[in-house]
This record gives sequence, structure tokens and C-alpha cells, in this order.
Amino acid sequence: MGVFNHEAFADHEQVVFCNDEKTGLKAIIAVHSTALGPAAGGCRMWAYSDDDLALCDALRLSKGMSYKNAMAGLNLGGGKAVIIGDAKTDKSEDLFRAYGRFVDSLGGKYITAEDVGISVSDMEVVSQETSHVAGLNSGLAASGDPSPFTAHGTFNGIRAAVKYRLGKNDVRGLKVAVQGLGHVGWHLCKELHNAGASLLVADINDEVVQHAVQEFGATAVPCDQILYSDADVVAPCALGAVLNEKSIPLLKASVVAGAANNQLAQASDGDLLRSQNVLYAPDYVINAGGIINVAAEIEGNYDRKWVDSKVAAIYDVLIDIFERADKENGSTSDIADLVAQEKINSAAKIGVKGKQDQIVA
Ligand code: NAD
Repeated sequence: MGVFNHEAFADHEQVVFCNDEKTGLKAIIAVHSTALGPAAGGCRMWAYSDDDLALCDALRLSKGMSYKNAMAGLNLGGGKAVIIGDAKTDKSEDLFRAYGRFVDSLGGKYITAEDVGISVSDMEVVSQETSHVAGLNSGLAASGDPSPFTAHGTFNGIRAAVKYRLGKNDVRGLKVAVQGLGHVGWHLCKELHNAGASLLVADINDEVVQHAVQEFGATAVPCDQILYSDADVVAPCALGAVLNEKSIPLLKASVVAGAANNQLAQASDGDLLRSQNVLYAPDYVINAGGIINVAAEIEGNYDRKWVDSKVAAIYDVLIDIFERADKENGSTSDIADLVAQEKINSAAKIGVKGKQDQIVA
């Protein structure tokens, strides 16, 4: 399939195919939009079975980053890169330096960072060739681990959803079922526990589940049952595509609000959730805390107050989406896409690159 007529092309500004024979690097950098600022998004390393799958991933993920960055109120556009290769066997310093040179050749139009298969140390190598890289542990503006910020934004999003759906000002006394106790899920459980929620938890790693039982008084639930818990809120914090035509009819909670990326198996699952009267907090809006933290690094002068205010704003952004979805009788996921596209279109029209606060969306 060609690029321009690819189903995932979605008006991308630029797609760069990177080929370096010496190091074996084969990568695709997709710049979806720079209307709001430089296109920022991670680089994924994956052993794609064919090039079209790699292209598809790069195109979809970069558009997703445009929407995520727009909704987080950041002066950043959306982009994403994929390196075709096995992250366990195909990494080398030369390969990442070659990738860094391709990123640098875009002159700052695309800013790279870690994604699946890529570590901070890989990005440290990339940084030897380009300054257009974020998610580093060292340097003046290094932002460190994004997970606690993602977790805090998710906590704010859960508060917004329970306020809107259940009329509760806080999570005290509510039951929250958390799927996945990794970097984000664990921090989220800690915040929920401290705020007085009772926790139901599941993870394929039994050790971490036992730890949560001891530390937070959580109730352990089998992995295949956690989504269907008798809880007020379900918070998917592990895998994508967990909300689908099979799982949605079985949900008992009236709110789904968690950090996992790409929770909907397909776009129409947003409508299915609405028809089942489940309030869904769109994933890329509620889980933006981490990219907000990385954005502070990109700004060049890491400002914790700025990060905290943007992460706090996730609450209001979600309330606006919930209200508009009810007003327009649409799914929250469709409304989030609509608002994000409106922000990008307004910026492109009036040329306010880097000035989200000037946009009247
Ligand atoms: P992680 O790998 O640290 O944690 C994932 C956890 O889920 C692990 O503990 C794993 O054992 C568990 N898990 C895997 N399969 C499971 C299953 N079937 N049932 C229950 N548990 C299962 O990842 P993370 O960084 O905590 O990210 C969690 C999710 O949030 C991912 O979807 C990620 O893309 C998304 N996200 C993370 C960040 C971030 O800042 N880390 C930002 C935005 C979105």
C-alpha cells in the first residue's frame, strides 16, 4: 500500500523513511502535525513482520500524539518513530547514533523519546547526535521517571469522573479496581489508598499483588475477573484493547478511568460504553501526566510548578469532555478526538504555533 492513500495517513505533514546500510537501521519517523509546536512522541523498537505494519503503527501513534499533546494543553505537535528490529538482539550504539542523525536532520521538527523497547540509556546514545531528544536522566532539564506524573493525572481524572457520574467530591469509601500494578498502577494505588478508596487489584505478577494487599489492604482479584469487579471505578493500567464488544457488556462499574494506552479495541467501543451507561475517561486525556512532565524537559527549564498545574488541569479537561458528550449525545472518546482536532485546526489556521493559550477552541 502507498503512503498517501494509507488508511492511517490522516493528513500527516511528513513521513521519513530512514535507511542506514552500515548499521542496519531501518526506521520510520512520522510527523503528524506541527501546528501547535514541534512534533513530540516516543520511538518504538519492534520486530514488525512487514514494513506496512511498521508504517501503520508510526502513522497511528503519531496522530495519537498530536491529540494527546493538544488535549494536555502543550505547545507540542505529534510525531512518532518506529525502529524495525528486535529490541533484545538488534540494538547497538551505532544503530542509535544513526537514528539520532536522522532525528537531527529534521532540525527540531520532531523530538524523540522512549517508547516500547527503548530505554533511557538508548536515548542517551541518541543524544550524542541530536539535541532533539527528551526523557533523559541527566542534563539540566532532565525530567526523570514520568510514571508518578501519569499516575497523579489518572488520579485527578478518576476524581473528575466520580464527581461527574456519582456526584462525589472525593474517592473516600469508593471501590476502585486496578488492573496492572506496574510503574503507573502502583503509584495510582498509593494515591487512591491515601485518599480513602478501597482497592481491588490484579496483576500477572503475584508478588506485586501480595505487596499491594499488605501495603494498601487491597483485595486480590483474578486477572480475568478484575474488569468485571463489583466496583465503582475500573482503572485499566496494563494492556490496550481491554474494552471491546466482549468485555463491555460484562462491566459492573459505572466509570472506567485508567492509564493504559489504547483501551478501546475499536472506535465504536466508545459508543458501546455510552450505550451501557458507563462513563469512560478517554485514555490519552487521563494519562497525559507523563508527557506533560516530558514537555517541561523539552521547554529546557524544568519547572515543577508548571507541571503540577497542567497535571491538575486534567480534571477540568475531562469534565468539559463529559459535559459536551452528554450535550451532543456522543461518546467521550469521539468528543475528545473532536476537541483535539479543533485545537489543531485553530492553531493551523491562525498560526499560533507554540501558544495554546491563545487558541479559542
Ligand atoms: P508497566 O509495564 O510498568 O506495568 C504494567 C503492569 O501490568 C505490569 O505489572 C504487568 O505485570 C501487568 N500486567 C500485564 N498483563 C496483565 C494482565 N493481563 N492482567 C493484569 N496485569 C497485567 O507499565 P506502566 O508504565 O505502568 O504503564 C501501564 C499502562 O499505562 C500501559 O498501557 C502504558 O502504555 C500506559 N501509560 C504509561 C505511562 C507512563 O508514564 N509509564 C504514560 C502513559 C500511558
